[in-house]
Amino acid sequence: MSKTVTESWAAMEPKAKVVPYQLELPALGPNDVEVDVEYCGVCHSDVHIIDKEWGDEASRFPKVAGHEIVGKVSRRGSEVRELQIGDRVGIGWYRRACLSCQECIQGYENLCPHGEATCFGASQGGFSRKTIADARVAFPIPKEIPPEYAGPLFCGGITVFAPFRRFGVKPGDHVAVVGIGGLGHMALKFAKAFGCKVTAISSSADKIKEAKEYGASQFINSSDEKQMKEAQGTIDFMLVTVPKKLPWQQYTALLRRNGKMAIVGAILGNVEVPVMTELMVRQLTICGSITGGRALIKDMLNFCALHQIFPKCEVTTVDHLNEALDRVRENKVRYRMVVKL
Ligand SMILES: [Zn+2]
Ligand SMILES: [Zn+2]
Repeated sequence: MSKTVTESWAAMEPKAKVVPYQLELPALGPNDVEVDVEYCGVCHSDVHIIDKEWGDEASRFPKVAGHEIVGKVSRRGSEVRELQIGDRVGIGWYRRACLSCQECIQGYENLCPHGEATCFGASQGGFSRKTIADARVAFPIPKEIPPEYAGPLFCGGITVFAPFRRFGVKPGDHVAVVGIGGLGHMALKFAKAFGCKVTAISSSADKIKEAKEYGASQFINSSDEKQMKEAQGTIDFMLVTVPKKLPWQQYTALLRRNGKMAIVGAILGNVEVPVMTELMVRQLTICGSITGGRALIKDMLNFCALHQIFPKCEVTTVDHLNEALDRVRENKVRYRMVVKL
């Protein structure tokens, strides 16, 4: 069969503006679907890849970024069972997983060493009229979720949802979300819907009103030493969503004994916490988390449909993709950016 060529938007070199680009799609495999892209989120990871901030392996040029894809199935491979032509699906950080390795079997398809990230390296992403993914990691989007807001759920959404499930956060637990941005505002909504007591922690005191709208009942201004001190030893589960290094001991001090801290902000650097007096004696857990496996993604979509939880998005059209990328680059977006194809 002849190759499919589709219109896409590619950066031809690091940090370049994206330009229209005729993209040759890979052949449709037996388990694959071809998707007509309707919307694609613009995530900070796309900027990191286009700007070649994650090294040579991540960024091959021309580069079509985009990994928060929403669209309709337009072709099916011979083995595809679940999805039908016209079904609306979402594709996130990975478009393939082997589904047979230890990680996949345990439900961590996001960690599959044989998987393929959607727009990493030689793989070309969703700033494109069409894309191809394994049907088993293309997730039907419940009709209760508006398609223009669905894309960011497949990256930022699952990144903050998964730790609640993995670490067994319960109704009534005191949850703190550090940072009120693209990830943090979704985490506040999830924490509220899980029935937790929710505290937002931010260095921007002007975010108090929004934090409360998203579900926080309390707000801690992290620049205020007194507020930070008063909150010590009160938090069961803390989700760190900021992408910058923190004075870690001031934050672990907020945890109760046996408390947990999950870090989902892409921080380049180390976490320094005393082993004996903090990790051991107070039995703290500090861990990282990245997107989530298939079961958790389906779980999240059902949860979002039931509780009407969507990210707050700015939506524009793909002919404004360069402006959209710049707004993400400059941290101006409140709180997720989406382009309509
Ligand atoms: Zn992302
Ligand atoms: Zn695998």
